[in-house]
Order: sequence, then C-alpha cells, then structure tokens
Amino acid sequence: MKNKPFKINHLLILLIILLGLGFTVPQHGVIPVANATSKDWHKHSYWHYPWGASGVHKGIDIFSRQGAPVLSSTQGLVIFKGYLSRGGNVIAVLGPKWRIHYYAHLSQTNASWFDWCSKGEKIGEVGTTGNARGKPAHLHYSVITLIPNVGNVTTEKQGWKRMFYINPATVFIDRVN
Ligand SMILES: [Zn+2]
Repeated sequence: MKNKPFKINHLLILLIILLGLGFTVPQHGVIPVANATSKDWHKHSYWHYPWGASGVHKGIDIFSRQGAPVLSSTQGLVIFKGYLSRGGNVIAVLGPKWRIHYYAHLSQTNASWFDWCSKGEKIGEVGTTGNARGKPAHLHYSVITLIPNVGNVTTEKQGWKRMFYINPATVFIDRVN
C-alpha cells in the first residue's frame, strides 16, 4: 500500500468549494466611490438616451472629488487595466455571477492585471480621463453580464444590448425607482 496524500487533496477540494460558494452566493456590493451615496448619481442616468458617441449611457456616473478612492464594488479578478479613448484609465473586474464591473475615467489605477480584489478594496482614484476631460470628476461604472438576460431586452434604442448589462444601482440596493 502506498501512502497517498489524501488529506491534502481533501483540503484542496474543500478550499475550492468554499471559494466557489463565496463567488456565487448573492451579496450586495459597495458603492464604488468612498463616502458616496445614492445622491451622487442621477437615478435616471442608466440607459439614458441620447448619450454622446455611445448612443445610450450603459452605466451610472458617480460624481465625487478628483482623487477620491475608487473601491471595487465586489470581490473579483482584475481582467483588464489600461487606457481607452472614451474610458480613459479603466479597470475591469470579473466578479460573482460572471459579471464584469467596469470602472472608467480614473485619474490613477491602483490594481494590476490578474490582481484579486476584495469587496471595498481601493483600485484607483476618481478623475476626468478619456471623454470625461473638462467635465466634473466622476466614476463611470457599468456592470456587464456574460450570461445574457433576454428578459431585459426592450424596444428602445439599443434595447437588445440590455441583455448584456445590469443596472449598476441594483448591485448596491434592492429597489431602483
Ligand atoms: Zn458615464
């Protein structure tokens, strides 16, 4: 009989199950700007039309002071960090339920590719980069779902794209009016 490292395997499996559970159990995110409240974004900001080059606004703009900490609204894995012409300095985090949390217009980023972020961890600072140049400092925050929700499709402008987006405010609060 050979001695196989059963105990280590069992521990690993248990750890993977626990991590998996933590990653799928529904939980509220945090508002991704330090000290921000629901008064810091316009409640009809999401899917507002018309909206610049994007056509419709697929996120919310959380207004704050330049340099205010941007916090990861959920735990997750940084899957993109870089500069985009519209988004400026952006970070994208893959979080629970196969949702990508997109943070844009940052003045600086404090997370790197494949960093693991915990909920509420600082990942950057509010700024005016990209097409927010010359506008009041704000965080543009979008939540993209990799699992399409066909039930969200509407007949409005770009309404079919709604299946790939979540109203970000629902990440922090149950009811959005
Ligand atoms: Zn925006």
